[in-house]
Amino acid sequence: MTRAINFSAGPAALPESVLEQAKAEMLDWHGTGQSVLEMSHRGKEFLSIAEAAEARLRKILAIPGNYKVLFLQGGGSTQFAMVPINLMRGKRPDYIHTGEWAKKAIEEAKLLGNVHIAASSKDRDFTYIPAQSDWKLTPDASYVHITSNETINGTEYHWIPKTGDTPLVADMSSHILSRPVDVSKYGVIYFGAQKNSGTAGLTMVIIREDLVGHAPSGTPHMFDYKTHAETGSGYNTPPTFSVYIAGLVFEWIAKQGGLEAMAKRNHEKAKLLYDALDASAFYVSAVRKEDRSLMNVTFTLKNAELDDAFLKGAEKQNMVQLKGHRAVGGMRASIYNAMPIEGVRQLVKYMREFEKKNG
Ligand code: PMP
Repeated sequence: MTRAINFSAGPAALPESVLEQAKAEMLDWHGTGQSVLEMSHRGKEFLSIAEAAEARLRKILAIPGNYKVLFLQGGGSTQFAMVPINLMRGKRPDYIHTGEWAKKAIEEAKLLGNVHIAASSKDRDFTYIPAQSDWKLTPDASYVHITSNETINGTEYHWIPKTGDTPLVADMSSHILSRPVDVSKYGVIYFGAQKNSGTAGLTMVIIREDLVGHAPSGTPHMFDYKTHAETGSGYNTPPTFSVYIAGLVFEWIAKQGGLEAMAKRNHEKAKLLYDALDASAFYVSAVRKEDRSLMNVTFTLKNAELDDAFLKGAEKQNMVQLKGHRAVGGMRASIYNAMPIEGVRQLVKYMREFEKKNG
C-alpha cells in the first residue's frame, strides 16, 4: 500500500502511528474485549479515555485551571451560534471579518442579535489581517470575535489582539495545536477536531469559567455551555471514537516534543513552500507576507488554464486534495501537523517540474 500525500483542508491527514495504534486496538481496547466503537459512554473504560484526552490537551496547551474544556458536537458551525447565544448578554459583539469562515460566523451571529463589524479585509479580497490600529471596537462590546486562521483564504494571525476586559473569542479550527497559544488571553477558543486534533465529529471549546452560565433563559439545553460544563460533557452521547482518536493525537504531539516542536516543524514546512512560490512568477501567492497561514497555503497558477493539468499531474505523483476551495479557486496545500516535511518537499519538486514544462 502507498499512502497518499494528503493536502486536504479537513478531514485531513493523521499521524500514521495514530492510525496504527487505532488499528491495533480496534477489536480489543486494553484487554477489555471491546472496541472503543462499541463502548458505553458512561462506562469506566470510555470515561478514562475522555479524561486522558482532556488531561493531555490541558497539558500540551498549558490551559489554566480556570478554563473548562468541553467536548461537543456540531462543528465550528454550531459554535458560530453558541458563542452569540451564550456571550451576547444583551450587548453588541464586535466581529473581525477576514474571510469565508468569519463571514459564516458573522451571518450566524446576526440571526441572534445586533453585530458590529469592527474591521474587514474585504477591500483586498481577504488577503490580509487588518491591523488592530484600524479596528473600530465598541467600547462596551459583549465580546470580540476573530477567525485566527482562515482555512479558505490562507491568512493567519501571528499576533494576539488586545481587547482589554472584553472577552476575545477565537475560531482556531484550522491552526490550534500548530504552535503554543497563550490561552489566558482568550475568553473562548473553539475548534473542530478534523484538522490538527483527529477526526470529524468532535468539537472542542475552551472557555473561561466566568463566561459560562450567561445564556438567556429559554435556551435549549444543548446550546447552553453550562449544560456541558456541569456534566463534564456528558449531557448526551459524546462522539466517543473521535474523542479517543483526539487523545491519541494529543499523545503523539507530546511525544514529538509538544507545541514548540510542532511550531518549529510547521515553520520549516511553510517556509519551503512559500520560498518556492516567491521564487517563481509562474505561481502567485496573494496573501500579504506577514499574514500568511502556516497551515493552509493558498496560491494560484498565473495561467488558470493550467489548473486541471497541475492537479492531474500532482495526483499522478500521489499528491491529493490540492484544489483550492470553490469560493476562491486556485490551489491550496493544507500542511497540518501530520504532514511530514518530505511531503512538502515532494510538492515543491513537482511545482518546479511543472513550471519547467509549462512555464
Ligand atoms: N471555522 C473554520 C476556520 C473552519 O476551517 C471550518 C471548517 N473547515 C469551520 C469553522 C466549520 O467547521 P465544521 O465544518 O466542523 O462545522
